[in-house]
Amino acid sequence: MSRITTRLLIVFTLLAARAVAEEQRPNIVFLFSDDLTCQAISAYRYGLDLPPTPNLDRLASSGMLFENSFCGNSICTPSRATVMTGLHSHRNGIVNLSGGLDPKRPTWPKKLNQSGYSTAIFGKWHMKTKPVGFDTWEVFSGQGNYYNPELFGPSGSRRIEGHSTEVITDLALDWLGKQDGRKPFALLLQHKAPHRNWKPSIQDLELYQNLTLPEPDSLFDNYEGRVAASNHKMGIDGHMRMSSDLMLFKGNEAASVLGRLTEQQRKDYVAAFADENTAFLKDPPVGSELVRWKYQRYMKNYLRCVAGVDRSVGRVLDKLDELKLTENTIVVYCADQGFYLGEHGWFDKRWAYEESLKMPLIVRWPGRVKPNTRCSAMVQNIDYAPTLLEAAGLKVDWKVHGISLMPLLTSAGRTPENWRSTIYYRYIDGGHGVAQHSAIRTNTHKLLHFDSPRNEAEKGSLWELYDLTKDPNEMTNLAIDPAHAERLADMQELFQKTKVFYGDTDEGVWTNRRSTPFAPEDYIRQRSPRRKK
Ligand code: CA
Repeated sequence: MSRITTRLLIVFTLLAARAVAEEQRPNIVFLFSDDLTCQAISAYRYGLDLPPTPNLDRLASSGMLFENSFCGNSICTPSRATVMTGLHSHRNGIVNLSGGLDPKRPTWPKKLNQSGYSTAIFGKWHMKTKPVGFDTWEVFSGQGNYYNPELFGPSGSRRIEGHSTEVITDLALDWLGKQDGRKPFALLLQHKAPHRNWKPSIQDLELYQNLTLPEPDSLFDNYEGRVAASNHKMGIDGHMRMSSDLMLFKGNEAASVLGRLTEQQRKDYVAAFADENTAFLKDPPVGSELVRWKYQRYMKNYLRCVAGVDRSVGRVLDKLDELKLTENTIVVYCADQGFYLGEHGWFDKRWAYEESLKMPLIVRWPGRVKPNTRCSAMVQNIDYAPTLLEAAGLKVDWKVHGISLMPLLTSAGRTPENWRSTIYYRYIDGGHGVAQHSAIRTNTHKLLHFDSPRNEAEKGSLWELYDLTKDPNEMTNLAIDPAHAERLADMQELFQKTKVFYGDTDEGVWTNRRSTPFAPEDYIRQRSPRRKK
């Protein structure tokens, strides 16, 4: 055999081996939503008995549902940065809503792309700078719009008519249909829904109209023993706007609240709420009855937005079946944090209390993850980067806080003996009257520490301790009960150790608070260069 023939044979063998390897590397479909909380997903069986989410349940029944999945900082931009980098806020450069993701930072999509994956992201990115590591990207600038959203890509922006959940699902399904199987792919479909101000798709406006939804026991919480919580500004009673949050229009308010909608969309919107709004204005409820009315209106619109996301999940799963991609595709469903559905009288997130600390996480991987399994191990958004890279046969080549969930995924959710027994939390943003705080959670207890008390009462109540086994709704602060002093001291010691373990020296908390640390061309919406003083 000539030397040239031998060389050609070697090249062909290598190419063939690579082709096989590419075929075996799983595709990844990452479905992400904004503020979609576990209580709203029927597969979670957590919280009140709310309307079902059949497509998320379908995903859960064919994969693994993580019952104890948590974020590290319960607010949009910081949680997204953690999901991308595998690092807690104090180390990833985004500590609050004004942060932008440094384009030079390593992320799991970037690493996948470098290793030969075809990558795309559609929808809500919300980290100010242009997405890096994607062959295709079309994202909102900042929060984006529910209706007729403007999408920004490498070559400019375009407005697409329709509801954002449906618009970005269409884009994602189109892209999926164009994958030719020569490369594995990673698709990130990231919804705006169900973020405030809750505007469902027109086709969902009449859902639940004749239903009276159950109320949480703590809808009228008096915050006894919880000083910081009593200073919130996220109450259904006092902090929801009647027109922009609740669609209760007076005079010509509809025109400004629904200004972005087309004339027909606006007409449909106003018509859907007309009868209820007329009845309200004729005989307005007051006091606790007004809170109940607001709760029903809020919840129905929130859950209508959830129904849109659920339908999108179904469309993606159907498309994967149609394209015969289901078997070799990992589907991850999650949201950036949890949310209050009236618990403690609240909407919004931010607190280290369970409802907003929890983050839905469902993973389907045919042949690797046993269908219809539930995992109770504590996992966190720092774990996603190492997990998805390991699933793709890659190693994380930067320092991360998280650990791969692969041992849980491939063992039907059995928790290894040496699995983490504590998670760390730190909220820095400070909006909605939520004082800055840190927390740890074990399998049985939670400790909160308020870092920056805002008044004398808060200074006198820096710690909160909860026994989650006896008080899952966190209504009784044991830190003020001398009978629990020993437990409090133990948890305080564990808190300090955990803080050291994750390298939180308080230093990172105050960096990157300015919103423009990058070059103007790095931003999705380009800014003027900062003027030198
Ligand atoms: Ca969010």
